Amino acid sequence: MTQKLKRLDDLEERILSCVAIGDCRGALKGPYSNPFLEITCPMRDHGPGFEAFFARGRFTIARALLDGKIEPSEGLAEVIYQCTLCGACREVCNNPENPCMSNPARESIDDHVEIWEALRADLVDIGMAPLGRHKEIFAHEAKEHNPYFESHNDRLIWIPKDFEVLPKGGDALFFVGCTSAYRLNEISKTFLEIANKAGIHLSITVDEWCCGSINLRSGAEDLFKELVEHNKDVFKKADVEKIVVTCAGCYKTLKYDYPKYVEDWDFEVLHAIELIDQLINQGKIKISKMFEGKITYHDPCHLGRHSGIYDAPRNVINAIKQDEFIEMRRNRKYSYCCGAGGGLKSGFPDLAIEIAVDRIREAEEMGADILTTTCPFCLNNLSDAAKEVNSKIKVIELLELVNQAIY
Ligand code: SF4
Ligand code: SF4
Repeated sequence: MTQKLKRLDDLEERILSCVAIGDCRGALKGPYSNPFLEITCPMRDHGPGFEAFFARGRFTIARALLDGKIEPSEGLAEVIYQCTLCGACREVCNNPENPCMSNPARESIDDHVEIWEALRADLVDIGMAPLGRHKEIFAHEAKEHNPYFESHNDRLIWIPKDFEVLPKGGDALFFVGCTSAYRLNEISKTFLEIANKAGIHLSITVDEWCCGSINLRSGAEDLFKELVEHNKDVFKKADVEKIVVTCAGCYKTLKYDYPKYVEDWDFEVLHAIELIDQLINQGKIKISKMFEGKITYHDPCHLGRHSGIYDAPRNVINAIKQDEFIEMRRNRKYSYCCGAGGGLKSGFPDLAIEIAVDRIREAEEMGADILTTTCPFCLNNLSDAAKEVNSKIKVIELLELVNQAIY
């Protein structure tokens, strides 16, 4: 190795634990005696089709880098960044029924996504990444603290004038997040309306900066640390114990990544859908009309696979539905990524849409009228894909369905 790949070096044992049988291409499903392979890695399906684009090949690359058999390059970074960090490879690899698990050479790879993120961060440190579009985004973020090329001062202009939000305190701080603040602010408005109907008092602060998910996923760890430091101070001044978010990416980042970077992190982080599930159970939200139409649900990777929140959205759907709730063919831990994560939407937008079209087709095959989800990022990409192929399916945020069904 001519250039130091520090993080990768630290993970060497885990990297060498891949026994290269290759089940990470898809999930084994069906009876154990007669299983079939269900595609779960979006890059295996929609990338150029080479090994390098799914987990087994990525481990071979990592090994070759550690052995000095290949050199890091911008071309290599192009391959490494074509991955949504969806974590499906981790689920398949760690499935006890996966033949790789019974190989005596197999130790524990544990979390594959941690390794993909470490490789990206090493590539950034040695100047081979970030890629062009990500470079522009990070330069803007360093000044205006959002990845959408918007002004920080416009972060809260979406809040309706007649709407009361607290500057601090209340039942929880609503961390709006960049996508809901600058692009899909119907989601944040809807959540405020639901909270209002349930008698929940939320505070919002204009001082929030991007949660840093895109930075951490894309290897810009230094910028991520700056965002964490700032947000931590803002949260401490907010006089709350709970932080609530509407974005699956913010959720995973605040709940599981911030504690690794902040010593005395003691906030409870909730996704809005968990809060709503609790409020329905406590009878604080009254359902006035059951929602019509066959509904299916897309598990956002950051909420499902990365955070284990599978039941809360399904409980809420079951509470508001009138017609059938149909599971997607690929669901829960073997759900299929929407294609937007891991910086793919900004770095490789056509690829992101192609993957989302696959998910739209699956929802159509299931006979659903409505495809709902609980992440603005997934919503955005799935909606773009539905438009792209003129699908009749309606892509609607679950909070929107809840708001229509309650009083
Ligand atoms: S399933 Fe796991 S051990 Fe098997 S090839 Fe894929 S990453 Fe390697
Ligand atoms: S994280 Fe997702 S896209 Fe990346 S290699 Fe694993 S399954 Fe494929």
